[in-house]
Amino acid sequence: MIIVMRAGAAQEDVQHVVDRVEAAGLEAVLLKGERRNVIAAIGDKREVATEQWLASPGVERIIPILSPYKLASREARPGATPVRLNGGVLGEQKVHVIAGPCAVTDFDTTLEIARAVKAAGATGLRGGAYKPRTSPHSFQGLEETGLKILHEVGQHVGLAVVTEVLGTEQVDLVCKYADVLQVGARNMQNYMLLKALGKIDKPVLLKRGISASVDELLLAAEYILKGGNSQVMLCCRGVRTFEDHTRFTLSLSTVAYLKEVTHLPVVVDPSHATGRRSLVPPMCKAAVACGADGLLLEVHPEPEIAPVDGQQTLTCEGFAKLMKELAPVAEAVGRTM
Ligand code: PEP
Ligand code: MN
Repeated sequence: MIIVMRAGAAQEDVQHVVDRVEAAGLEAVLLKGERRNVIAAIGDKREVATEQWLASPGVERIIPILSPYKLASREARPGATPVRLNGGVLGEQKVHVIAGPCAVTDFDTTLEIARAVKAAGATGLRGGAYKPRTSPHSFQGLEETGLKILHEVGQHVGLAVVTEVLGTEQVDLVCKYADVLQVGARNMQNYMLLKALGKIDKPVLLKRGISASVDELLLAAEYILKGGNSQVMLCCRGVRTFEDHTRFTLSLSTVAYLKEVTHLPVVVDPSHATGRRSLVPPMCKAAVACGADGLLLEVHPEPEIAPVDGQQTLTCEGFAKLMKELAPVAEAVGRTM
């Protein structure tokens, strides 16, 4: 970390910062400039928050050298973290696809979707039993009944069940039925939930908050890793920008960036990111091309009658066609579908 002092900062303020750096167990190297002084703090002490240094008199800014997320960082683990999924591994050569309805509505429809996506090559079945809806008047999900449907269908068809957990009080219940626990965008910074998920032995799919920075996403992952659960997948599902032709904005450079800075696998959700069915296939291809390890997709036999997110949901036929089209894209970048 580099601590840049204000131009003309008092000598005693500079000395005070040097003393603080040393008291924190770091080595302080004072670099004297003509107009300002700079202090290099050397050592691996990430637990001292940046803001704490900014609070000292005379400090202008801090330039971090080490990433604030030490467990999620590539420095911590040079290889990729493999995440167990249905007997396979997400984070290696195969790009895994998790597909299903936005919300679970009934057994028969869920079974129909699961059979279709399995036949087309999916590894996981997604579906919301607890839905975080913007309006409290909207359909909130089937709750435990939905979890039971997902579990039964997942077992029957041979797909890993991925479903959202909304709060700490649901963790045990969702663990009973699901193979992967999803943290939704609205909950990315629910730190009590993240801590609770650090204690389970099931993978977690952590979605990026709609206005969260990449560092905030990685620090959220850090909470789960710190608890002892290394099975974390990051999910890019679009962020809020001024673009109004899509529901959110899918930043694909973030996918490539995450692959550089973290060992955690990256899943892309073009359904929520675009909010438009026609844009989902091209964004899936782009995501695979830029290094995504997995895709999360909404699929329903009749999107028109799906109670949630029908406008961004692929039909079962559309999904099967997309899976075929993805194969050569994956191959071109040294992956398989
Ligand atoms: C979902 O995947 O069902 C969902 C609610 O997504 P997000 O949290 O990204 O909005
Ligand atoms: Mn949805």
